[in-house]
Amino acid sequence: MKPLLRSLKVRSAKRQFVNSIEKMSANEIAALITDDFMVSEEWFVLKAQTIAKYGCTCMKCKKQIKRWTHINVDHIKPRKYFPHLKNDPNNLQILCGMCNKNKGNTTASYLPSENS
Ligand SMILES: [Zn+2]
Repeated sequence: MKPLLRSLKVRSAKRQFVNSIEKMSANEIAALITDDFMVSEEWFVLKAQTIAKYGCTCMKCKKQIKRWTHINVDHIKPRKYFPHLKNDPNNLQILCGMCNKNKGNTTASYLPSENS
């Protein structure tokens, strides 16, 4: 990649990051910084187990997610309202970043049908 193009891409990524932070409320930023769960070893293992179980395809839009860091292991029932379900493997699903962002703190399951 040409250096100029790369530096433009980096700048664009930084701008997106800054934009997303600027749109957050002070409470959301505080929660992000103090959210030990998302950086815990427990969550890392749960995430790996969920990806091993379901694969790397977004369950909503069916997009293949190529990078580990782009895979969103989502809580079907959000942690915010159902904190007791945060470690429940049955409450987890695979989403891409966009689908997870659109879902936000709502409850929506895209798990494959359990009737099969
Ligand atoms: Zn998706």
